[in-house]
Amino acid sequence: MSERMILENVRAYYRQLKGTTEYFVKAVDGVNFTIYDGDIIGLVGESGCGKSTLAKALMFDFHPPLEFKGGRIELITRDGKRFNASQFKGIDTVKKTLWGKHIAYVPQDALNALMPTIKIKKIAYDILRSHEKGITLKKTIELLKERLAELDLPEYVIDVYPFQLSGGMRQRVVLAMTTLLTPEVLIVDEPTSALDVITQKIVLKALVQLKKLGFVDSIVFITHDISTVRQIANRIAVMYAGRIVEVGSTEQVINEPLHPYTEGLIHSVPSIELEGKEKGISYIPGHPPNLINPPAGCRFHPRCPHAMDICRKEAPPLMKINGNRIVACWLYGGEKGE
Ligand code: SF4
Ligand code: MG
Repeated sequence: MSERMILENVRAYYRQLKGTTEYFVKAVDGVNFTIYDGDIIGLVGESGCGKSTLAKALMFDFHPPLEFKGGRIELITRDGKRFNASQFKGIDTVKKTLWGKHIAYVPQDALNALMPTIKIKKIAYDILRSHEKGITLKKTIELLKERLAELDLPEYVIDVYPFQLSGGMRQRVVLAMTTLLTPEVLIVDEPTSALDVITQKIVLKALVQLKKLGFVDSIVFITHDISTVRQIANRIAVMYAGRIVEVGSTEQVINEPLHPYTEGLIHSVPSIELEGKEKGISYIPGHPPNLINPPAGCRFHPRCPHAMDICRKEAPPLMKINGNRIVACWLYGGEKGE
């Protein structure tokens, strides 16, 4: 399967000032991750673990106070062109070269992102015009009508204002507009968290549809809610304290989690939402660490029921287990020390 994005040891920190002392919030701190053509990846973790910052890194979206501190972020287009985050000097060239065309982002507050006083067709026209000079309003309307129909939205939507649409319709309109230029990768940040369960299902279906029709190649679905993402993701990546700690197929990660943190996350979901799991709610003890000064070694060690000596001293690398599982935990090899 061809790669669409490769991340190697990516670090992205927020620069902060307290008085005259400078310090960094290490929101993304050594992330390794590959996105393949055809993937719907669920990026899962508690709030504050760095998911939204990782989304910014995937968008090459670095501007103060967020700094790209190192590693490799590479985007590979359908026709084999490669873009590297380190090749870009400013955010304006990133926007012009990549956003919308190759990589698109639907932010957490997308429902409020549409200007309420501008009609949908005009918003779409402005998006397209900023990337494709010479496109007409007529052509935009044609394209938009086709996309809206594919997402089960009626044609009249193009002639209304965003405030006239329900939350679920607005979310689908945002998805249709963000993917008008058929980007390779679409990143959606908590796209369903403000919606009721029925509307959630409609939005999830729309995402699957976008990929099926080839309007996007790969989707990264960011959420704190593993039970939602499991409905559409083929793979799940679990993030904890600025790092990816486990990656596997959705079935594997849900049914046979390897990392103690993943196990804790799954146990904290009511069993009714993860059919077939005889589990009640049990919360992971403790709190996610402060990312200004995260714990040494495995960052989960203060909360981990299996912590060993080595866990307090050395960070476990991401290791391949049984061919296709990836986990960062000393329980699965390396210098386990027991
Ligand atoms: Fe727990 Fe150690 Fe594994 Fe970290 S490396 S999750 S502390 S067993
Ligand atoms: Mg977030």
